[in-house]
Amino acid sequence: MTELRCSLLVIGGGPGGYICASRAARLGVDTILVEGRRVGGTCLNVGCIPSKALIHAAELYHDAVRQAGEGMQGISVSAPSLDFGQTQDWKQGVVDRLCSGVDGLLEKSGVKTLTGWARFRDGKTVEVEGETGPVIVRAENIVIATGSRPVELPGLPFGGRILDSTGALALEEPPKRLAVIGAGYIGLELGTAFAKLGSEVTMIEAADAILPQYDEKLTRRVRRQLDALGIALKLETKVTGWDELDGKLTLESGETSDTLEADRVLVTVGRQPAVDGLGLGELSLRRQGEFVEIDDRCQTSMRGVYAIGDVTPGLMLAHRAMAQGEIVADVVAGEPNAWDRACVPAVCFTDPEIVSVGLLPSEAEGARVSEFSFRANGRALTLDRAEGFVRLVARESDHVILGVQAVGPGVSELVSGFALAIEAGLRAEDVAGTIHAHPTLSEAFQESALAVASMANHG
Ligand code: FAD
Repeated sequence: MTELRCSLLVIGGGPGGYICASRAARLGVDTILVEGRRVGGTCLNVGCIPSKALIHAAELYHDAVRQAGEGMQGISVSAPSLDFGQTQDWKQGVVDRLCSGVDGLLEKSGVKTLTGWARFRDGKTVEVEGETGPVIVRAENIVIATGSRPVELPGLPFGGRILDSTGALALEEPPKRLAVIGAGYIGLELGTAFAKLGSEVTMIEAADAILPQYDEKLTRRVRRQLDALGIALKLETKVTGWDELDGKLTLESGETSDTLEADRVLVTVGRQPAVDGLGLGELSLRRQGEFVEIDDRCQTSMRGVYAIGDVTPGLMLAHRAMAQGEIVADVVAGEPNAWDRACVPAVCFTDPEIVSVGLLPSEAEGARVSEFSFRANGRALTLDRAEGFVRLVARESDHVILGVQAVGPGVSELVSGFALAIEAGLRAEDVAGTIHAHPTLSEAFQESALAVASMANHG
């Protein structure tokens, strides 16, 4: 059996793993990365990137349909048509381009990449089941960056008409009738995209609200848009059965029971760490449920074994995985680094988008909260999307910014500025005193800060 040795072995080539491996190699650490599928992980192949590409294409098509109907801004087009095969090819082209970029980055950084599935033999040894037979890798340090997988519902195993997000992103045609179970961000993003592509969408959610982690004020506009798109939303409703032959879901809400016919059912009820078959039983790692527990240097309870990304407790987001990957690369290379980030921005690419950084008003008792509406923002009006607001949460005593949330068109592009303000410990006065270009959506951030610091110019 082939045997390899290295200083650092990274298991999983998603955003956590590939950033960790390439940075470590550039810092002079002899690094091997093993990936069972394709580098880029969930994010590039079947997550962030293809979903945002689909959302964009759906938005373009939906706009064209609206323009054909209403002739917005005096522009009218004749009935648009959709060649979904071409849409999918374009989406795949974006994915392929980014994945090749990661291949190139790893190569340029000097990372040795192995294709195959890794399994721990002990805390320093991993067996990789590759295309050309098994390989043993002995490493001084090992990073678990194996990501996550979708949770199945009892009685609705993935397969046939029951899809996970990967299956939904690979569909050859938008389904005529699509049921989406779970109104978290993934379900809402994909459900909305398919509605814009012409599917008749029903969303089913067991809780009494969509995106239950956010307050109603933040989610209200998304609910309105679901209505406007004709998406039926069934809250406080549980799916209790599925008849694959007839394509019928059984739904229960309180005392009442109902059925719903669907050509496809997308299940987006959460994700869990992907640790099956990894041989974690050979190690004595402290766990939090399925998650691997880590300290502020992403070190597990075993010396020399690290974990990053979706396998660790916390927000399952690509940029958190990447930040953790950087930390581990530095630590293994002997550079000082530890998790000391003040915030992890979260974005829902819903319609309209919702972003949140730092504390919500409900998490910051006694804080000063100010809001500036996009209805009074020139740029939002020129985009014909004057809806939503920016909300700032500041400490009462000194106006240090503790949190920022926004809902509105394109607010995903504002969120890094919000995070910078929190990370740098800025006060509302600092944001208020920074000239924000006009006309931009970002002026709403300055106005919300002005309202705390002195008085809003347009409030
Ligand atoms: P992953 O990206 O999951 O990568 C893990 C890799 O490890 C995989 O390639 C897997 O094949 C490999 N692997 C697993 N086990 C083994 C093994 N034993 N041996 C070898 N290789 C192994 N996040 C955002 O921040 N923004 C978004 O807009 C966003 N949108 C999303 C949309 C969808 C539809 C989904 C599903 C997810 C989305 N996410 C988004 C979440 C994001 O994709 C994840 O948080 C991120 O990919 C986690 O990175 P990771 O490195 O921890 O793991």
